[in-house]
Amino acid sequence: MGFRERLATAAVMAALAAVGAGCGGDDEEAAETAAGAATSAAAAAGEGTSFEAGTTMQAIKDKGKLVVGTKFDQPLFGQKAPSGDVEGFDTEIARELAAAITGSRDNVEFVEAVSKNREPFIEQGKVDIVVATYTINDKRKEVVSFAGPYYIAGQDIMVKSDNDTIAGIEDLNGKKVCSVEGSTSEANVKEQAPQAEVLLFDTYSQCAEALGDGRVEAVSTDNVILLGLIEQNGDAYKLVGKPFTEEPYGIGLKKDDTAFRTFINDELERMYEDGRWKKAFESTVGKVEKNTPEPPPVDRYE
Ligand code: GLU
Repeated sequence: MGFRERLATAAVMAALAAVGAGCGGDDEEAAETAAGAATSAAAAAGEGTSFEAGTTMQAIKDKGKLVVGTKFDQPLFGQKAPSGDVEGFDTEIARELAAAITGSRDNVEFVEAVSKNREPFIEQGKVDIVVATYTINDKRKEVVSFAGPYYIAGQDIMVKSDNDTIAGIEDLNGKKVCSVEGSTSEANVKEQAPQAEVLLFDTYSQCAEALGDGRVEAVSTDNVILLGLIEQNGDAYKLVGKPFTEEPYGIGLKKDDTAFRTFINDELERMYEDGRWKKAFESTVGKVEKNTPEPPPVDRYE
């Protein structure tokens, strides 16, 4: 048995003992601690798992870091802090994947992606994965593959807090609406409010600015992106209506890299089971969304 295995075995045995002892009767909590202990054992060994030669996982391990395309200006999901760290639910998921491959959550490099360059970044090999509020859909599946989903958002509308003329998607007809080029949000507004005058930017933070200075009357994209922008703008804005689409967030990777996709799906399921997904959600999106949902089942599509 190697060093890493011994460490992991010790952790599992300690964890089992903790579960057995009941630790005051809260078995679920004990099980979560158990999972945490096993994870940190692997991380402490600093090695991660061993992979078959030639796999993307082994290539990332050899390189020593996971390169991740993510948003830098979306509070709750991917926001660059003054310290230079990029923080949010997407970056937490990415760090857990980096840990599973390399043995450390720190072996990750975040590259700023905007909506329209996510597929090109993957195709060109500029990033290993994209974790960036990235909706899984058939059109995108033609050029990249997706692990997940790890969250289901829904498209909604944001207006100034004192606006009482826009209450739903139909009301966007005839109005100036901001969205982002290359997003599903752009496509959905054009389809569901064909008379809307759609202004397109590269990022949703630019849309929030355009709403602030009156260039547009509404911004439309995923509810949780909007909630982050509302929080950031001191409640000058509000959400209206009900989500009118389903946006399953996936992890984008090179098309048909099935071994890598399966690895990520397996790791997502481990995160669901051992509480890391819940912890990641609650420490990020959970700041504004108090109801933690059940994680969605991963879709191992053919
Ligand atoms: N989830 C949608 C998409 O992937 C909108 C959010 C975004 O552009 O990142 O297009």
